[in-house]
Amino acid sequence: MRRKTFTGGGVHPPEYKELTEHLALEAMPIPEQLAVPLSQCLGRPAKPLVKKGSEVKTGTLIAEADGYISVAVHSPVTGRVTGIGREHSGNGSLQDVVLIQPSESQERDYLPPIEPESASAGELIERIRQAGIVGQGGAAFPTYVKISPPRDKKIDSLVINACECEPYLTRDYRLMLDRTFDLISGVRILMKILGLRKSSIGIEDNKPEAIRKLRETAGTDGDLEIIPLKTKYPQGGEKMLLKAVLDREVPQGKLPMDVGAVVQNTGTAVAVHDAVVNGEPAIKAVLTVSGRGIRKPRNLVVPVGTAIRDVIRFCGGIHETAARILVGGPMMGTAQHSARTPVVKATSGILVLTKEEISWGRETACLKCGRCVSACALNLMPTRLARLSRLGRFEEAGKLNITTCMECGTCAYECPAHIPLVQWIRLGKQAVLRMQRNRN
Ligand code: SF4
Ligand code: SF4
Repeated sequence: MRRKTFTGGGVHPPEYKELTEHLALEAMPIPEQLAVPLSQCLGRPAKPLVKKGSEVKTGTLIAEADGYISVAVHSPVTGRVTGIGREHSGNGSLQDVVLIQPSESQERDYLPPIEPESASAGELIERIRQAGIVGQGGAAFPTYVKISPPRDKKIDSLVINACECEPYLTRDYRLMLDRTFDLISGVRILMKILGLRKSSIGIEDNKPEAIRKLRETAGTDGDLEIIPLKTKYPQGGEKMLLKAVLDREVPQGKLPMDVGAVVQNTGTAVAVHDAVVNGEPAIKAVLTVSGRGIRKPRNLVVPVGTAIRDVIRFCGGIHETAARILVGGPMMGTAQHSARTPVVKATSGILVLTKEEISWGRETACLKCGRCVSACALNLMPTRLARLSRLGRFEEAGKLNITTCMECGTCAYECPAHIPLVQWIRLGKQAVLRMQRNRN
């Protein structure tokens, strides 16, 4: 049968999901020290409410949101605050963190549970805001903002992104298998908030067991349609997903809400269930630890603020052949130069890759083959954008829509000349966004 997918571009890199897809989610023990970042979304960092010596319980609010695009931060453990420090973030910059020394006994300080059937949409949105939930699909946007569209945007569709199209990552897959009921419960809460009677879950067809289980758990009410999609990267990009599932095109510079849709990730739906039904704030990251450089690949539930090196230690450490540590998947993730980097709410994976797993090809001059252009699902011109960025010609790059690049890495993956296209484009995009902010 011909599977639905997006039109134009895309690639099919080796999946490497066999390393972890059979491994159920495990809770990682609490580490000896946590460094909980105040910056958990792409907006402003939260404002700390604790200081050195404060006693906190698991779930205690330790920092409040600072503005609309900002999220609350809660303590992932019971213990004592030892200070406010500085630590590297996943992208290499320094950030403020709340340092917490866990105590022997652990106590909960969760929010009161809410009965989703009797709660109003407003109460449910407020709970999601209080719980500090961010999108789990990569961008880490505050979830309560995404489900509160302006009045003039009429939303008629909710699409759950269950593609997990990045190679190696299997944490969404395990959430679908290990927490199916809670995932479906979270989707129905989101539907209630948006006033929708129906929604869709888009999932790549390389996950037949998850498709079967989701269909079985969703039941026969017909409010939830599970839609298998062709396995093709970047099928999980919002624009690609909406094209495949709803056959709607999001114009350049526009958002899903401009075509009447909201997209949420599977992990976000589970976090919504936890916050509403159990009163649990967003204090844990569900992530895959994989790659041929790690001794014991795993799918883990990790307290936010745990250092990458503690996660790696829990997974048996690294092999001698390990060459690079990435946070996220191999296509969109970022290489780490510090193993002290703490896990954040949106961390989806930690990969330890060997030399063989990394493309070490030496960069050569552009061959003008056009493969990067054909592969770009957003119809951009990666080769020109990267060149303009390299030359510092940001005005021109802006006119060629560099800011719409979703940094999926497909162009760099396809390039036979090993040009770090996405890295140059990312730099150029940041420069153009800075210019636009300064102008405004
Ligand atoms: S990284 Fe940007 S330019 Fe490259 S393929 Fe993806 S969307 Fe296109
Ligand atoms: S894929 Fe690489 S070599 Fe081919 S046109 Fe694009 S930048 Fe040049």
